[in-house]
Amino acid sequence: MKQTAESLPILVAGGGIGGLAAALALTRQGFKVKVLEKSPELGEIGAGVQFGPNAFAALDALGVGEKGRARAVYTDDMVMHDCIDESVVGVIETGQAFLEYFGNPYAVCHRADVHMSLLEGARETDRIEVHTSTEVVRVEQDDRTVTVFDQHGNAHHGLALIAADGVKSAVREQYVGDDARISGHVVYRAVVDKKDFPKDLSWNSASIWVGPNHHLVHYPLRGGEQFNVVVTFHSREKEEWSVTQGSKVEVESYFQGISPKARQLVDLPKSWKRWATVDREPIGQWTFGKVTLLGDAAHVTLQYLAQGACMAIEDAVTLGEAIKQCDTISNLDFEKAFDLYQRSRITRTARIVLSSREMGKLYHAQGVERLVRNDLWKNKTQADFYRSIEWLYGWKVENCLAK
Ligand SMILES: Cc1cc2nc3c(=O)[nH]c(=O)nc-3n(C[C@H](O)[C@H](O)[C@H](O)COP(=O)(O)OP(=O)(O)OC[C@H]3O[C@@H](n4cnc5c(N)ncnc54)[C@H](O)[C@@H]3O)c2cc1C
Repeated sequence: MKQTAESLPILVAGGGIGGLAAALALTRQGFKVKVLEKSPELGEIGAGVQFGPNAFAALDALGVGEKGRARAVYTDDMVMHDCIDESVVGVIETGQAFLEYFGNPYAVCHRADVHMSLLEGARETDRIEVHTSTEVVRVEQDDRTVTVFDQHGNAHHGLALIAADGVKSAVREQYVGDDARISGHVVYRAVVDKKDFPKDLSWNSASIWVGPNHHLVHYPLRGGEQFNVVVTFHSREKEEWSVTQGSKVEVESYFQGISPKARQLVDLPKSWKRWATVDREPIGQWTFGKVTLLGDAAHVTLQYLAQGACMAIEDAVTLGEAIKQCDTISNLDFEKAFDLYQRSRITRTARIVLSSREMGKLYHAQGVERLVRNDLWKNKTQADFYRSIEWLYGWKVENCLAK
């Protein structure tokens, strides 16, 4: 184990998917890690997450690929339907041919299961300490160490700080101070038991129904025993970033006039959670001395490519690789390693942020734009689809560092 600077740990702000992936990556490089999490317990919300082959490649690099795979559901395809006339707009098959093309599967998972796989992996290394109910409020650094102050004024000393404190990152606020961009798009999410889910929608697919200024998503979770249901709409209200209890009346009011088959999704859940979403303009600097940003703190994105968590895990792997590369020279130089990390990640994650906005426009097209959207993928072969998403799903640890 590396015992530099009086055996101090590396600090990680935030114990979500990004923070735990970072902790695991760092422990695998021989460091002790102290995770500071503001919630009273580590955990994840009850909702699903889509995982591309890139995320499995990243989980493999962290040594927890098999844990992740064991908890995932492997769909036959991703299907887009028009939610006015029920026509099929496009299908990407995610079976054997997809697996062979990308070398890893596409799958859907419960978020808590992804989090658990990372936590188990980190705990197995015996080098991770988690402090819950500990909110990072301020950071100081000198030539040798970083000091993080929590809400009680306690000081936590470390060799460096990885800020994985999410969309409202306190560390980003201190070092960057930019505003989140309010999308005005609201997401409702729920998990429904199989017995309550409509038989005529119980497909082994990641399904999206696209409509004017809204869309609906559903896919199986946990061996098909549950289904994830997500609906998104352009709000009539002035929104701020928030996560609140949803209102059935509100969500129903946005999905009038859609196909009865898709409409069932809106009526299903007994309770909904409501997210008013944001993203941020991509920035060219995440690293500030021995402090660097990771996950949503670095590049929060709208959810339309289903890649935020995948990117956070890729970030963590790349961070570990950058540290390994810089460490081989002599003493560990965090500033150099963090610079290599950010240079390796900024373009890719900015592309995700910008492409997600465009994808949202496509999903929510209306009038003639809707007709154009519905025409876009006609006559595309599976090989065409696979080539077009290779930039996204083809990520590999071997090529993750900038030259
Ligand atoms: C509707 C929706 C659907 C999505 N679907 C997908 C999908 O299908 N696939 C995908 O890959 N991604 C998806 N995402 C994105 C994904 O959820 C996020 O990108 C991912 O959770 C980011 O992880 P993170 O660890 O960076 O941040 P978070 O998950 O937000 O974790 C941050 C952690 O930091 C803690 N924290 C916050 N502030 C402090 C502080 N000051 N001090 C200490 N701790 C703090 C929080 O309590 C939290 O535990 C979706 C997002 C949304 C909104």
